[in-house]
Amino acid sequence: MRDQEPSSAYNHSMAASAPFRIVHTVCSHDCPDSCAVLVTVNDQGRAVKVEGDPSQPVTRGFLCGKVAKYLDRVYAPDRVLYPLKRKPGTQKGPQTRGSEHESFERVSWDEALDAIAARLKEIADRYGPESILPYSYAGTIGVLGYGSMDRRFFHRMGASQLDRTICSEAGGQAWNLVYGKKYGTPTEDVRLAKLILAWGANIHGNNIHLWPFVEEARRNGARLIVIDPYRTRTAAVADWHIPIRPGTDTALALGMMHVILNEGLEDRAYIAEMTHGFEQLAERAREYTPERVAAWTGMLAEDVEQLARKFANTRPAMIRLNYGVQRSQNGGTAVRAIAMLPALTGAWKQRGGGGQLSTSGAFQWDKKAVERPDLAMASPIGRLARVVNMSELGRALIELGQNGEQVNEGAREQNGPAVHALFVYNSNPGAVAPNHNAVCRGLMRDDLFTVVHEQFFTDTTDYADYILPATTFLEHTDVQGAYGHYFVQLSKQAIEPPGEARQNVWLFGQLAQRMGFTEECFRDTPEEMIRQALAIGADGHSKNANMEHITFEDLERAGHIPLAFYAEPEKRPFLPYTSGSVPTPSGKIEFFSETLAAAGADGLPAFIPPIESRWGDAAKKFPLELLGRKSDNYMNSTFANLPGHRKMEARSNQRIEMHPTDAEARGVQDGERVRVFNDRGSLELTAMLNACLPAGVVAARLDWAKLHPDGGNVNVLTSERLTDIGGGATFYSTLVEVAKAANGEKRSSRAREQESETRVIK
Ligand code: SF4
Repeated sequence: MRDQEPSSAYNHSMAASAPFRIVHTVCSHDCPDSCAVLVTVNDQGRAVKVEGDPSQPVTRGFLCGKVAKYLDRVYAPDRVLYPLKRKPGTQKGPQTRGSEHESFERVSWDEALDAIAARLKEIADRYGPESILPYSYAGTIGVLGYGSMDRRFFHRMGASQLDRTICSEAGGQAWNLVYGKKYGTPTEDVRLAKLILAWGANIHGNNIHLWPFVEEARRNGARLIVIDPYRTRTAAVADWHIPIRPGTDTALALGMMHVILNEGLEDRAYIAEMTHGFEQLAERAREYTPERVAAWTGMLAEDVEQLARKFANTRPAMIRLNYGVQRSQNGGTAVRAIAMLPALTGAWKQRGGGGQLSTSGAFQWDKKAVERPDLAMASPIGRLARVVNMSELGRALIELGQNGEQVNEGAREQNGPAVHALFVYNSNPGAVAPNHNAVCRGLMRDDLFTVVHEQFFTDTTDYADYILPATTFLEHTDVQGAYGHYFVQLSKQAIEPPGEARQNVWLFGQLAQRMGFTEECFRDTPEEMIRQALAIGADGHSKNANMEHITFEDLERAGHIPLAFYAEPEKRPFLPYTSGSVPTPSGKIEFFSETLAAAGADGLPAFIPPIESRWGDAAKKFPLELLGRKSDNYMNSTFANLPGHRKMEARSNQRIEMHPTDAEARGVQDGERVRVFNDRGSLELTAMLNACLPAGVVAARLDWAKLHPDGGNVNVLTSERLTDIGGGATFYSTLVEVAKAANGEKRSSRAREQESETRVIK
């Protein structure tokens, strides 16, 4: 039978006798697009097709290459399907792929939950509950899956809180310092832009649903300019690619301001009405002449000028700023500076103009109801617990509790007991956390009790005492916003979880009961929690800002509903930051931040070269700047284990990309094995010579450590140094040296592909 034709309002409960039913779900992977995904399920209850919802105005009926093949993931033969307990006497640590089962034995959920609860109680009693550390991130970005019953559980227990900084905190805080809340140009309006500045944004790689709007704009005469040290797929098809040096974005943004102000291209009326601190910013920008900026960025001074003029003179002009920019040491300041550009030129006033880092500020979920931080008062410590920064996991596992020393470079509280239990879910720190070798040393500790809730055997499960099987977004219900559009969406459970996989909401509810937590909230169902997130009132409507028109039933029927301000974008276009006050301390867009100044920091943006950059002392020993890039076909470390996805990355898997000049200086040839190293670690990779990046910069992709013969990945080279704002990870401020590997040999590209394929199959 032909599949059901989707319509704008989906009937999710088609007749039971229908051979197929279509269920509205939402892709919960960490991506701005938050696609509406239609899942076709056959009468055996098996998902047979996933496709993008054509009625969702951003998804527009297609999925990215990663998720188009999602059923390969859901029905992968190597999914973890049952609770597993480490066998007595087996050693924690990297295991050959395919042999992981040998270290574990299957146990029932009851046995696993009873044992985990008992051990957590024992650790809490002996060392204090703050010795238990939850570790999670955006393996799912559904509201419930990301943070709900888990937060209730750990608050009630008094466990350490995790500062979730690894990905976007620096940029998010920086944007909010300027604008107070994260709104942005609507994705659909980008089609109206005449200039699109993709700044650190690889739209093709990780924001593909923006691309049709960029193409439409270009068909109507728009220009696409990409600012990125690396020639990404997006940069390769741009009208102009500007390959600036890593970590120099602040200098370029200030240089553009210099030119704009020098030539009187700013919008004085907008500045007067909407902004604070213009005079101070103008004074600062005066220092950033195109010549100085050119020396830092590697650009020509004329190009700095041309870029500034194009941005200021083209209407509408928008900046798609992505989170790569903020992953350098002064990345928070870089985001602040770039974010100020559309305010300087008044670009927000035109539909299709302005900028977008994230739209997530528009979704005002009732987080207090969902996460229940008040439960911390009922914990044995009677207060909110200490905060541990996830970007410093290695240090937290090794150094916390040692002599009561302050571990963090920043202001976050990290004193207190050593970590004795680590509970990992929605994350794979064994692959993604910086300073991999330190993280692994911590995970290897005999006295560390580790539980991992996962879908597959990963770099992290190799260190687990218990592995618990987790659901995919097809197998549970959730509600979701987005950071790349303005639609609230309901993700309905499409299929029964395979084996005994369970959603983390269920897992933490069960554990809470075994811990003896009697509060009713630990018995809430996912639907009750979705209603709480929406703050559904007695009249059936949401009480959340921008969601007052939404009822649970309407959301269930429609699958996706726009936020109130975006209900009729053609009649009432959404132009953020163009009237009224903005939620900053001054009520204005802040060029100058009194908040930063009061904290003793610079209230204005200024370019400070990262310690690990070509200007730092360490460059004498390690002169190359490393970009530990994300793969276009993986989602951080997710999908890297699937053969089809690995094949798509075959060209770059386990390669180090080098400029020919740098290779020649080291006597390295294309295809030769090289050692990439610094004081933190070393990794053997295959040299791939190209001019996709500036001289002095090398690039390698993030991969699973256990899929590399060395048992490492680019994170053996990255540091736990934190960003200037937000305490984020500084993956792109990393210095290395490259040398020929001992016994290095040159291999043909076919041999390299075969090697990659073989590794997948093993
Ligand atoms: S990863 Fe992103 S683009 Fe791909 S389906 Fe999910 S939300 Fe859409």
